[in-house]
Amino acid sequence: QVTGNITSEQVDGLSTTSFSPCMRNLHQALRGNHHLRHGGRMQYGLFLKSIGLHLDEAMRFWRTEFTRIMGADKFDKSYAYNIRHNYGKEGKRTDYSSYSCAKIITSNNPGVGDHHGCPFRHFDAEHLRQKMYEYGVASGGIKEIIGLVQGNQFQVACTRYFELTHKLPQGASPMIVSHPRQFYDESRKLLGG
Ligand code: SF4
Repeated sequence: QVTGNITSEQVDGLSTTSFSPCMRNLHQALRGNHHLRHGGRMQYGLFLKSIGLHLDEAMRFWRTEFTRIMGADKFDKSYAYNIRHNYGKEGKRTDYSSYSCAKIITSNNPGVGDHHGCPFRHFDAEHLRQKMYEYGVASGGIKEIIGLVQGNQFQVACTRYFELTHKLPQGASPMIVSHPRQFYDESRKLLGG
């Protein structure tokens, strides 16, 4: 599933140009809080793996952020195993795949303090409106997106977001978004990455 290689330094830039809102939001939460709870680490960590962040880079990425609020010992004891596990280096040595939209939307609803999930499905309208504004969607586009969400068309809303943020006319998206990885791949194709 992994196609390219990315470094931990590239993640900030890619998150603003090519990440689906669920992953961009997780990235912001990680940078802001220097921590993510288990659901977020799984959703985001497996995604980063899928776009080519290899284990050594992933370890550097998570360690740098988490050790802003905890000692290296605590990180190594409580979190490093989980990261190696996601890469199939611990436990049953399964090479876990990243989550599809269907899985993110329908399972493991985020609670208070969680940042995983799908913004189109799990944010309230005001929070979603603010996020879309922050991510550069103009007010007409935000209205369209909220309308789709109110009709429970979460992945269609994400597709519309893809079009609006990649300057594509309505209906020109190469896909109906079904996987954050697909969103990323199509974005990189369009932006020449
Ligand atoms: Fe992420 Fe899929 Fe939701 Fe888009 S529709 S934000 S890719 S879970």
